[in-house]
Amino acid sequence: MSRKVEHLHPLMRPIVAAFIATAWTRVGVRLKLIETWRDNTKQREHWMKGRDEHGRIINKKRVVTHKRPGDSWHNLQLKSGAPASLAAHLVPELPGGGLIGYGNSQLGKPELAIYRAVVYIGLSFGMRSGADWDEDGKIMEHGEDDLGHWEYHPGFHLAEAKAVLAKGDDLASLVIT
Ligand SMILES: [Zn+2]
Repeated sequence: MSRKVEHLHPLMRPIVAAFIATAWTRVGVRLKLIETWRDNTKQREHWMKGRDEHGRIINKKRVVTHKRPGDSWHNLQLKSGAPASLAAHLVPELPGGGLIGYGNSQLGKPELAIYRAVVYIGLSFGMRSGADWDEDGKIMEHGEDDLGHWEYHPGFHLAEAKAVLAKGDDLASLVIT
């Protein structure tokens, strides 16, 4: 697991930078980048949480992802093998240094209000939010609780991205904005 900004695909880096800057200038929230790229071993570790050895869900509460290794925007790589994630986890940091809503913390109304403000800002950059999986603009509906997760893939699907990267071509050719 990485939290390095260099492990984001170059397409996503400026978006994340602008998101962080805007959250600070618009609502005074400091966003911390806590995860970018994930290798397939780590993805498998995540995927196994709450599942048995056949991949069947045995404990719904422990499930953290439905993405098998290689099937997450976090897992993308360039042809060279260099990490090139199109997903990132960004969470608000409290002045005292704690992170809001990471892990299993229970969020109260004030913390949720902070997230709401942040999520609307992130959406304005054309990213997909874990707080709006169905992309209907209504955030934090049932099941939309991956509040710190962001993806950037304007107009293309994961399979397309994987194919382009495997050929060593430029992802920008897929972008529809
Ligand atoms: Zn994620």
